[in-house]
Amino acid sequence: MRILIVGPSGAGKGTQAALLSAELGVAHISTGDLFRAHVDRRSELGRQVKQYLDAGALVPDEVTNVMVAQRLTDDVCRAGFLLDGFPRTVGQAEVLENLLRERDCGIDTVLEFDVPEDQVMARLLARGRGDDTEDVIRHRQQLYRQETAPLLDFYADRLVTVPAGGSVPDVTARALHALRTRA
Ligand code: AMP
Repeated sequence: MRILIVGPSGAGKGTQAALLSAELGVAHISTGDLFRAHVDRRSELGRQVKQYLDAGALVPDEVTNVMVAQRLTDDVCRAGFLLDGFPRTVGQAEVLENLLRERDCGIDTVLEFDVPEDQVMARLLARGRGDDTEDVIRHRQQLYRQETAPLLDFYADRLVTVPAGGSVPDVTARALHALRTRA
């Protein structure tokens, strides 16, 4: 199973991606986690991307796409995966389509986590990540509307919208139900 999770900051994508990937037995690939791991271990890539993460800006495609291409190993089609945080733009989605087509597969389902913007600010401020100040959150929200929301049209034929308000187990159950009734 090859799944994407799309949704605004604070929709619970990371939490749900970890739970869903464990339940489905596929790898959880989060570009945000990969970038943060580089920043934490002060690698060359980490030094390049830190300013973007701190500002809530998109890391340039030439860095992001290469990192993702390296992470998508040759057996990735067979093994399956749940991608969280990538693609974030239609350009990145086109790159992903090509990477998978070269390996003879594609994305099966795109899960959209739908949550009203005004409900996520408190949740994010409580999370307390370094890039979770009010200004940076607003910038990420604006980028989501401008750059990422067009993905919902791009993937319209594979899109499943999951209402993402409520408790963590409720949202997981809704997402699993959506995936299973679609399969
Ligand atoms: P996330 O953990 O998904 O909230 O991502 C945290 C930060 O990592 C974002 O605010 C961006 O700076 C960067 N990032 C993650 N994924 C991408 C991507 N697909 N393209 C560009 N930047 C990204």
